Amino acid sequence: MTRNAQLQARKEQVIARGQGNLYPIYVKKALNAELWDEDGQRYIDFGTGIAVCNTGHNHPKVSAAAKAQIDDFSHSCVMINPYEEAVALAEQLVSHTPGPSAKKTIFVTTGAEAVENCIKIARAHTGRRGVIAFNGGFHGRTNLAMALTGKVSPYKYQFGPFPADIYHVPFPTALHGISEIDSLKAIETLFKVAISPTDVAAIIIEPVQGEGGFYMASTAFLQALRQLCDQHGIVLILDEIQTGFGRTGSMFCHQQAGIEADLMTAAKGIAGGYPLAAVVGKADIMDAPLPGGLGGTYGGSPVGCAAALAVLDVLEEERLIERANWIGEQFKARLHALQGEFPQLVGEVRVKGAMVALELVKNGDAHQPNIDLTKALVANAPAHGLILLSCGFYANVIRFLPALTIPEAHLQEGLDAFDKLFREL
Ligand code: PLP
Repeated sequence: MTRNAQLQARKEQVIARGQGNLYPIYVKKALNAELWDEDGQRYIDFGTGIAVCNTGHNHPKVSAAAKAQIDDFSHSCVMINPYEEAVALAEQLVSHTPGPSAKKTIFVTTGAEAVENCIKIARAHTGRRGVIAFNGGFHGRTNLAMALTGKVSPYKYQFGPFPADIYHVPFPTALHGISEIDSLKAIETLFKVAISPTDVAAIIIEPVQGEGGFYMASTAFLQALRQLCDQHGIVLILDEIQTGFGRTGSMFCHQQAGIEADLMTAAKGIAGGYPLAAVVGKADIMDAPLPGGLGGTYGGSPVGCAAALAVLDVLEEERLIERANWIGEQFKARLHALQGEFPQLVGEVRVKGAMVALELVKNGDAHQPNIDLTKALVANAPAHGLILLSCGFYANVIRFLPALTIPEAHLQEGLDAFDKLFREL
C-alpha cells in the first residue's frame, strides 16, 4: 500500500466526509509551483490551494517573515495587546484598496468570517436588514455566508434554516442569456415586490465569480451597481477573496472597473498560505459597530500579518501583478488552440489575469455541460503530474489558478501535461 493510500484510509476513519478531499494525494513538501507527495511523486500545482499561494508555496521571503515573527511571539490578540505588524498591514491594505475615500480595516481569520463581518458592518451602518446576493455566487460555509451563497448543493443542502432577509438575483452571463439589464431589472423588481430599497443594507458581489465558474462582472455592470447603491444608500460589498492580491492582473479586481467599494473582503492570497482575512472599507462605514463588536481571538494573527506584509513586498518586487496578465496570455493561447481543435468539447475560455477557466461541453453546445469529462480531467491530472481544480454551477469548468511566481519552464510543463491529458481522454 502506498503512503498516500495508507493516509487516505486513516483519514476516512477520523475526518468526516463533509470535509472530503479532491485527491487522495498527501502533500509532503511544496515549493513555488511544485508539490511533492508522501510517495515522492512531483506535481505542477495549478490550484495553489484554491487561489491562496499567489506568491507560490513557501516563498523564501514570506516563510522567513513568518519564522522571524514566531521567534518573537506567535500570539497576542489584536483586541488585547495589539502589535505593530497588524497596524503596518492595515496601513498597507487601506493604501492598496481602490478609491479615494479614507479607509479602515478589521482582521479576521477566514474568508467566510470576512463576508459575515461585512454584513454586520453594513447593517450597523444603515440600520437596515436586507442583503442582495447573486445566483451562482459563493461566499463561504458559515451560516450567513452560506445563506448568501447561490448554489444549493453541497454548500446549503441539509443545513437550513437560513437567516432571513437574504435575496438572490441573476448574475449577468451572456452564456445563460442573462444581460446586465436583466440583472438590474431583477433588483428593481425585488424592490417592488419583496423589499423596499430603504430596507436593503447591502449588495454583495464577486467581481469574478470564483466557485461559480469564473464568470466576470463587466465594468458597466459594476458601475451600474455602484450607481444603484449610491441612489438608495445601499452598501456595495466587493468579495475579492478569490480575486485579490494580483490574481486578476490588478491588486484588486474591481479597480479595473474604476469603482470604489464601500466594503471589500480580502483573504486567501493575502498571506500566501497563513490563515488571515480582512475587511477593508470606507472609514465612516467601518466605524459603525461598537468597540468589541468585531474581530475574534485569532483575527489578525501576528504570524499572518508578518507573512502578509512580505507577500505585499513580493508582489511589488517581483512585479507579479503584471506577470498575472502574462500568465493568462500563455493559458489563453494554449486553450484557444484546444478550442479550435475540439470545438465539440471546449466551450468558453474565460481569462482575467491568472484566473483562467475552461468550460467543457457536449456537442459544442454551451447548454450541455460535460461534467464527466471535467471529472475525468481532474481525476487523471495527477497521473500527468498535475494538480487541477474544477468549479462552476454545473461543475463543468476546469479552473487554473497557478502561482504568479511560477517559473516559465514549469508553466509550459504544466500546459504540455494538460494538453496531453486532454488528448488522451
Ligand atoms: N468568498 C469567495 C469569493 C471565495 O472564493 C471563498 C472561498 O473559496 C470564500 C468567500 C470563503 O472563504 P473561506 O473558505 O476562507 O471561508
